[in-house]
Amino acid sequence: MDLGIKGRSALVCAASKGLGKGCAFALAREGVNVTLVARTQSTLEATAEEIRKATGVQVKTVAVDLTTAEGRAAALAACPAPDILVNNNGGPPAGDFRDWDRDVWIKALDANMITPIELIKGTIDGMIARKFGRIVNITSAAVKMPINILGLSNGARTGLTGFCAGLARQVVMHNVTINNVLPGLFRTDTMMGRIEAGAKMAGKSYEETLAERLKTIPAGRLGDPQEFGQLCAYICSAQGSFFTGQNFLIDGGSYPGTF
Ligand code: NAP
Repeated sequence: MDLGIKGRSALVCAASKGLGKGCAFALAREGVNVTLVARTQSTLEATAEEIRKATGVQVKTVAVDLTTAEGRAAALAACPAPDILVNNNGGPPAGDFRDWDRDVWIKALDANMITPIELIKGTIDGMIARKFGRIVNITSAAVKMPINILGLSNGARTGLTGFCAGLARQVVMHNVTINNVLPGLFRTDTMMGRIEAGAKMAGKSYEETLAERLKTIPAGRLGDPQEFGQLCAYICSAQGSFFTGQNFLIDGGSYPGTF
């Protein structure tokens, strides 16, 4: 299927590794020129080179912290008129809400709610004027099925989801869509690190802990960032103009509900 986005441009946030990289790769395979953002120049450049070699598209890199205003300004300066914006960032830490003060909450809201909203603000009017725009926020399955120890994530990402649910209906008539993709458990550095930390805390082996996590996934495996990226690319396709404000769960069947 030709997704009809060859030659378009995408700003892909937090894209040197994991889910962001999966999205950048899948878009590049469709002929989209991508601007990748992450903090660490070396990893970012290695990913950019990998994508250039595999796809031949133009790949720019911006090594900044997206949670800062300067970082976002630099990302937008490198890619001022994207047709596609993939919002992504590192996730907040786990813990008990009794230990979190205002500063901890503000940090989480800054990273996982306000940063994506600011990037939407910086790009959406151009998309409206050009009559094409696809915005995808990488959130979490925790938006649909809260995870007890991830209250900061549950709260910040649900705030972003609520805001976008309203905005999505105000811009879709201009062929600009805003959707969220909600990952369950994917094989990425962050997730493998969490499983390892969980194993240490419980005094169990990594293998045992991983096997326990896999039991919660009817598919019997972790997700692959590439398949996550392919869903993102479809949401960004020319054909994808009639769904907006939606939350696409991709979790191997972990969510137990009918809807
Ligand atoms: P990952 O593989 O560790 O990749 C994280 C990416 O984000 C890296 O490219 C990292 O590069 C970049 N990054 C982190 N903080 C940044 C910042 N402040 N500014 C710019 N770039 C930044 O992580 P992942 O598993 O793909 O996770 C991506 C998001 O999905 C996270 O918010 C995570 O909580 C969420 N999520 C993941 C899963 C899963 O199963 N993997 C499930 C639910 C939700 P640098 O460190 O060099 O900046």
